[in-house]
Amino acid sequence: LEYTSEQLQRVDDIIKRNDIRFIRLQFSDIIGIAKHVTIPVGHWDTAVSHGIWFDGSSVEGFARIAESDMYLKPDLDTFAVIPWEMDLSTARVICDVYTPDGDPFPGDPRFVLKRQLRRAAEMGLDYQVGPELEFFLFERHANGDILPLKPHDRASYFDVSTDLAHSVRRQMVDALQSMGITVESSHHEVAVGQSEIDFRYGPALITADHTMTFRTTLKAIAQKNNLHCTFMPKPIAGIAGSGMHVHQSLWWIDKQDTAMYDPDNEYGLSETALQFIAGQLLHARAMSPILAPLVNSYKRLVPGFEAPIYISWGRTNRSALIRIPRVSRGRYRSVRTELRCPDPSANPYLAFAVMLAAGLDGIEKRLMPPPPAEEDLFHVDGARAGLETLPGDLGEALDELSKDEVIQNALGQHVYERYMEAKRLEWDEYRVYVTRWELERYLTIY
Ligand code: GLU
Ligand code: MG
Ligand code: MG
Repeated sequence: LEYTSEQLQRVDDIIKRNDIRFIRLQFSDIIGIAKHVTIPVGHWDTAVSHGIWFDGSSVEGFARIAESDMYLKPDLDTFAVIPWEMDLSTARVICDVYTPDGDPFPGDPRFVLKRQLRRAAEMGLDYQVGPELEFFLFERHANGDILPLKPHDRASYFDVSTDLAHSVRRQMVDALQSMGITVESSHHEVAVGQSEIDFRYGPALITADHTMTFRTTLKAIAQKNNLHCTFMPKPIAGIAGSGMHVHQSLWWIDKQDTAMYDPDNEYGLSETALQFIAGQLLHARAMSPILAPLVNSYKRLVPGFEAPIYISWGRTNRSALIRIPRVSRGRYRSVRTELRCPDPSANPYLAFAVMLAAGLDGIEKRLMPPPPAEEDLFHVDGARAGLETLPGDLGEALDELSKDEVIQNALGQHVYERYMEAKRLEWDEYRVYVTRWELERYLTIY
């Protein structure tokens, strides 16, 4: 495998300096769950020269038995020490998945994103993203159970709580920083037990890696504090859910400058930016099964909790699907769009891939977005305003994806088919389940 001597040297230094004993080779299955194989450090040279073989047949959405052999090729730039495994020091490296023939495996989500990034590069564009992950922390009961849910605090938005969450968030930030993620801020969110930690935006591939690392790290640190951290989008009905808003910008590769800015536009947006927005609005419904992938995701996308419902865009509007954050004078390079429907249970590689594909489709087809919607959509009747809505449930979202070839092509046939299969099963299972709500509501009346 081809690496530069600097890359190899950097990793060797980290191994020596930290007395690394184990190395965890990490990749992602199609639904975005981190998977890994761990090797003793003595086996590292083999991993670097030949890759590590593994059997992909049991990994969700990967392969059938007959085509199960695959190998992992470490991306050395992602090599980092895992700060919470100090007893026997362990490092982690993110890998690309290859087939025995030496081709990138089409079911590898990281490859799916790389393919879209290559397409953008052919158009002269680089895609940068900054996701904002919200999450809940729940206490564990004495027997270790998480249910019934016990939020660990009573605080709210930006509260300076003196409780455990504040200290846990600091440990989380510290661990993230030591894994190479630049955290910009952290705060308590609107709901009880809910927090948000924001890290610096960057190139989409690195940021997708960071998002995976973020989720693993937060879960591990919470566990150390006897708490449970969840990225489930709507754990508690009737209060705010957890989103993963994504700030996005496009950059001209040759000019090393933003492709989003035009001083003459009222919103400061270039034609390219407007076309990108139009593409994402056009494909918003079909992207939903990737951006809001769970049955539970659609319980977050309801009125009243700062989550989007209508397919619209605007500046001041937190209920819009795409918000254009205000940019201070002279900081034109930070012009960006914020897509608000994704939630933190999404596979970040696939999410960024379909978002980019949708936007590029808008650029290629020179689409223009409808007029912005500035009134607060929570309090007006968006349907009367003629606005389309996001899908109401996972089943509807899957139907939309099955009709949209742009998004299907972005996923590639392998991922599209396996993803559909897994999600249809999930939806069907839920559809026939009889809930507690139904029993309470109907059992005695009928
Ligand atoms: N929690 C809200 C959501 O579900 C977002 C709140 C915010 O604007 O940060 O998207
Ligand atoms: Mg937030
Ligand atoms: Mg936001």
